[in-house]
Amino acid sequence: MTSQRWFDDMEAKIPRGGARTRFAPSPTGFMHLGGMRTALYAYLLAKSLGGSFLLRIEDTDSARFVEGATEAILRTLRGAGLVCDEGPDIGGPAAPYIQSERKPLYRPYAERLCGRGAAYYCFCPRAERGDRETPAAAPREDDPCRALDPAEAAARAGREGHVIRMKAPREGSTTFRDEVFGTVTAENKTLDDMVLLKSDGLPTYNFANVIDDHLMGITHVLRGSEYISSAPKYEMLYDAFGWEKPVYVTVSSIMRDEKHKLSKRLGDPTYEDLLAEGYLPEAVLNYIALLGWSPGGERELYTLAELERVFSVAGISKSPALFDRAKLRHFNAEYIRAKSPEEFAALAEPYIRLAAGPSADAPALAELIQPRCELLTEIPEMLGFIAALPDYPAELYVHKKSKTDEKTSLDALRRLKPALAGLPSWTRDGVHGACESLAAALGAKNALVMWPLRIAISGRAVTPGGAAELAAALGREETLRRVGAGIEKLEGK
Ligand code: GLU
Repeated sequence: MTSQRWFDDMEAKIPRGGARTRFAPSPTGFMHLGGMRTALYAYLLAKSLGGSFLLRIEDTDSARFVEGATEAILRTLRGAGLVCDEGPDIGGPAAPYIQSERKPLYRPYAERLCGRGAAYYCFCPRAERGDRETPAAAPREDDPCRALDPAEAAARAGREGHVIRMKAPREGSTTFRDEVFGTVTAENKTLDDMVLLKSDGLPTYNFANVIDDHLMGITHVLRGSEYISSAPKYEMLYDAFGWEKPVYVTVSSIMRDEKHKLSKRLGDPTYEDLLAEGYLPEAVLNYIALLGWSPGGERELYTLAELERVFSVAGISKSPALFDRAKLRHFNAEYIRAKSPEEFAALAEPYIRLAAGPSADAPALAELIQPRCELLTEIPEMLGFIAALPDYPAELYVHKKSKTDEKTSLDALRRLKPALAGLPSWTRDGVHGACESLAAALGAKNALVMWPLRIAISGRAVTPGGAAELAAALGREETLRRVGAGIEKLEGK
């Protein structure tokens, strides 16, 4: 048995004073949107209370461990600006923050509960013991180990393989209070004797979670609603140890439709998928902040720093939140538009190069697409015609509204070409001015000239930006080449 002194030392190390929240993912793969939202809320709650945000990796279930998942979690949080105050890559007073590295801590606590009659050693054959995280526990009424003499069992445990199980009371009920879900009560007879320590000496997820929340001085536990059914068991553990309980803040699920939760298996995106699809981290973060939480009022766009100030548990909703991609896209477009031209050009440049080649004037093209771009990944499609003029039908020159047809277009392009070639400098205004002067000379509206110019240089009826902007971004030489090709196409008709 571990000495009282050891436990006293552990207690003395617990950070106290000020709010402390944690994100406690199991490194099982991708960062789901739900996980990201839990991390965000835990971060915001800590910051809104002037406290600390911790990252703890819960990897005691080696069967579910995925190589590289911890690194992905660290990378994702950092990329999203959710800076941890303590965690595996920074340390802190309660380090280490990776549960498998804390292994020696858990057994003494499990044994302490055995000593108090709140847990027991179980020697049943391995299969029956249910050695996994979510064991199909033997019905505890039938579990002979529950009735073993504690001192004898402890001695046996030194020689024999065993697990340590919680001795859940058979009568009465356990109630816990959640800030979002209110008071939740479970009949004790429905609770199984959950495994606390597995036969490999590692704690189960539920046990390690409670021990670490206590030892790390966590004041507010923020977690997904899938854990609400386990909450009475956590409650029992706190009671058995006589520890102060944290404030529970349980957040509801994110749904793909009315009936189904968001699911990677069904093709719903993870947080990282969304970034790869061209969404900006700050837009996704802002959007998921509002999935299940409301600041009150109409305003929707908040930077992370603003969220840190306005977040409060009172705004979290108990109802499941519906993931609405159209709305996320709208948020993304707003964030793109709010960027300075330089910031947007830097983000857009790799996509622009993909579409328009290495010699394209990326800043000019970025300016052109910024007001119209909703997703970064749309850029190659939007600008595909820059790198190579697509083959287009001469009929595109016919546009009723602009009063153009193939004949007026041929005439306009023939006259426009030398005017453009003679411009003293190549700018959007210069090109626009040349079109305007020509239209005036023809006694027509500008569209009679601008429409054929747009078609000649893009081969498309719909383009990001008008003809003059496109021409400015394309450069004089290429514009003249394409106008020439347009003339030839129309002459060939
Ligand atoms: N390790 C759990 C998970 O990955 C954390 C649950 C909790 O925050 O308590 O979901």
